[in-house]
Amino acid sequence: MPSKRDFLPQLVGCLSTGAAGNPTVEMIEAAFRHHDLHWRYINTEVLPKGLGDAVRGLRAMDYRGFNCSLPHKVTVIPHLDGLGQSAEVMGAVNCVVRRGDQFIGENTDGKGFLRSLQSLVDPRGKRVVVYGAGGAARAIAVELGLAGVGQLTVVNRSAERGEALLKILRERLQLNASLVRWEGDHAIPADTDVVINSTSIGLYDAEARVPLAVDSLRPGMVVADVIFSPPQTRLLRDARARGCRTLDGLGMIVNQGVIGVQYWTGIEPDARVMRVAVAEALGVPVEG
Ligand code: NDP
Repeated sequence: MPSKRDFLPQLVGCLSTGAAGNPTVEMIEAAFRHHDLHWRYINTEVLPKGLGDAVRGLRAMDYRGFNCSLPHKVTVIPHLDGLGQSAEVMGAVNCVVRRGDQFIGENTDGKGFLRSLQSLVDPRGKRVVVYGAGGAARAIAVELGLAGVGQLTVVNRSAERGEALLKILRERLQLNASLVRWEGDHAIPADTDVVINSTSIGLYDAEARVPLAVDSLRPGMVVADVIFSPPQTRLLRDARARGCRTLDGLGMIVNQGVIGVQYWTGIEPDARVMRVAVAEALGVPVEG
C-alpha cells in the first residue's frame, strides 16, 4: 500500500526590509533538512507600511512563528499578543513564537549570545565591559542582567544611547551598571572577567580597531565579538595573542537560530550543521 504523503509543511519565516541579504534562511532550513522536519522557513521582504498586513497574513496562513529583522524589531510589538520577559524589558522582538493561538514576541539575539558565553563562563556574579549601546548591546546587556551578572560597564561614544541603556539596566533590572563615555582608547579595568564588542566596528573589515588599550586585555578574560563577518576580528586576534579566551559573532547568530528552532519545533537542533550552513552562506570560514 502506498503511504499517504503530507504535502503541507509547517511554516515559519522572516519579515524584514533588505531581506535578500539575510542568510538566516540557509541556516534554519539546513536544520530542518538535517532533522527531517517537514517545515519551511520563508524569507520575505516587508516594508514598514505593510507590517500589520504581513503579520495578519501569517496568522491566516497558520504560521508557527517568524523572525523579524530590521526595521521591524520594535514596530512589530503592537501586532503581537504578548512578550517574553527579555523582549519586554528591552522593547524589541526578533523572534515570534505561536503559543496556542497567540503570537508571543521573544528576543533571541541576547539569548544566543548568552548561550555562546556560557560555553566558556557562567556570567553570574561576573564583571563585564560592553562596548556599544545599540540594539545588539541592549539585547546582550539585558540578557546578562537577567542571568545575574555582577557588574556591568557600558562604554559608548554617544551619551544618548548609553544613557537610554543604563536607564533600562538600572530601573528595570536593578543592575549594578555604569556608563563610561568613550573617548580615545579605553583601558579595561584589571578585574574585568568578560569584554564584549557589540558595536559595528569590524564588520566587513578585518583590520578595523576597537579603540581600547590592547595591553589592558589580560589572560583569563573572555573576549567576545558580535561581528560575524569576518569572524576573526582584529579584537579577537589581539585578545588571543594576549592569552584571552575568545568567542566570535558566528556563535551568536548560530545560537539565536538554535533557540528559534527550539521555540518553534520543540527540537534541539544540531548547532554544528547550522554553523556550517551560515558560514557557507556568508562566505566565511566555519572555524572563524
Ligand atoms: P546599532 O546601529 O543599533 O548600534 C551600533 C553601536 O555601535 C552604537 O553603540 C554605536 O555608538 C557604536 N559604534 C558604531 N561605530 C562606532 C565607532 N566608530 N566608534 C565607537 N562606537 C561605534 O547596531 P546594532 O547594535 O544593531 O548592531 C551592532 C553590530 O552587531 C552590527 O555589526 C551587527 O551586524 C552585529 N550584530 C550581530 C549579531 C550576531 O548574531 N552576531 C546580532 C545582531 C547584530 P553610538 O551610539 O555612539 O553611535
